[in-house]
Amino acid sequence: MYSDTVTKLINQFERLPGIGHKTAVRLAFYILESPPQVAEEMSKVLVEAKQNVKFCSTCFNLTEKDPCEICSDKKRDESVICVVENVKDVIAMEKTHEYRGTYHVLHGSISPMNNITAGDIKIKELLQRLADDKIKEVILATNPTVEGEATAMYISRLIKPLGISVTRIAHGIPVGGDLEYTDEITLIKALEGRREM
Ligand SMILES: [Zn+2]
Repeated sequence: MYSDTVTKLINQFERLPGIGHKTAVRLAFYILESPPQVAEEMSKVLVEAKQNVKFCSTCFNLTEKDPCEICSDKKRDESVICVVENVKDVIAMEKTHEYRGTYHVLHGSISPMNNITAGDIKIKELLQRLADDKIKEVILATNPTVEGEATAMYISRLIKPLGISVTRIAHGIPVGGDLEYTDEITLIKALEGRREM
């Protein structure tokens, strides 16, 4: 139906997460129907981003300088590490302007179903950071999913013997949520995270 080159372009868009065949075709035709500068600029920015943006060698957040802005910020509390699954979680936490510690990005969660073991995510690197005496608390902020809970459990078992405080963020019913439509894990976690009123 399409020429080889067009098919190749569609295939590239289809590789992106959340992009199905129909959307890939639409994007490909958008590029083909746009002035040449659009494709030139896009490809230039893609290559530039990939070249300049790296992972912080301490926390594994995305950064253009190593260590990243957060790790090198002297105003942040270096004694607390918040462990998250993905870079996007760091951004979500930062948006709250409440947290002043540092982060550790695992780049995934333990998932036997998908053959992802502890060795596939940045747990070893987290333990290396804990060898430093200044770390007093690790906050496990992995997602409230089966995988996220299993990962938090696994890490807490490794850290507790080190005498470092391990906490888990409380998960609850989302704002505007309805108890009736809340799944079991969320309800259990909301109960566990209850506090005195
Ligand atoms: Zn960092």
